[in-house]
Amino acid sequence: AEDVTERLRADAERESLLLRERVARAEAEAANAAKTDFLAVVSHELKTPLHAITGFADLLHDGELGALTDPQRRPVDRIRTNGRQLLRMIEDVLGYARLDSGEERVRLERVPLDRVLSELVDEAQKSATAKGLALSMEVRDEICLAETDPGRVRDLIRALLSNAVKFTESGEVRVTLWREPSWVAVEVEDTGIGIDPEQMPRVWDPFWQAEHPLIRKVGGTGLGLSIARRLASLLGGDIAVVSTPGAGSTFTVRLPLAHG
Ligand code: ADP
Repeated sequence: AEDVTERLRADAERESLLLRERVARAEAEAANAAKTDFLAVVSHELKTPLHAITGFADLLHDGELGALTDPQRRPVDRIRTNGRQLLRMIEDVLGYARLDSGEERVRLERVPLDRVLSELVDEAQKSATAKGLALSMEVRDEICLAETDPGRVRDLIRALLSNAVKFTESGEVRVTLWREPSWVAVEVEDTGIGIDPEQMPRVWDPFWQAEHPLIRKVGGTGLGLSIARRLASLLGGDIAVVSTPGAGSTFTVRLPLAHG
């Protein structure tokens, strides 16, 4: 009889443990859903007035509301550029928070990375040329199909390219694509300011930015690389960096190769 009692007690304990686990899981899911809702609301609440601000600043800038006087031109420009920058920062914070909540899902397909890269290079060409930088692309293997999410890959590479252009004062930015037995690799190489070896472990930390006069000038949130790293791991790949201060940096992303 004692055996039976003991067994019944053990069963009851196991069941109550399972129940507690289920409750905890449900609570965590509810908390996550609340966080995602909160982010959606905040994003909307912040972005709507900002769109109005930048929209009206654009109208003023384009002379749609009458010609601007000379002293008015500079402040209007400042409103436009700062408004845009604030929008980008909000996008970064939201993007990071969404990835951090673990709610993000990916849709994998076979993506020809050469095409994606050449679109991104075209997109970045204007800002590179404006700074007098040469921006080029080399495709080492003819077919580089990745099993990946095309939108996420674009966000990831775009962040690296925009950093390369931002943190390079002279010289060039090169994008190289090649295939390995299980990976497709994308390298973004620049001849920019580089990263101090001591600071290297921190580059992936959210909000980290180097102490450098150029960085203060270009602004930003310090979220780009932490988002990039999370995206790479979400896509089943990884990201690495090699850098020499004053000489340049090379970021390499590896993504799963599409088979067959
Ligand atoms: P942000 O670009 O908004 O500052 P990131 O997370 O993309 O944020 O980058 C974090 C920091 O890493 C930058 O502020 C800069 O100090 C350093 N960094 C990133 N990319 C480069 C690069 N290509 N060359 C030199 N430093 C870089």
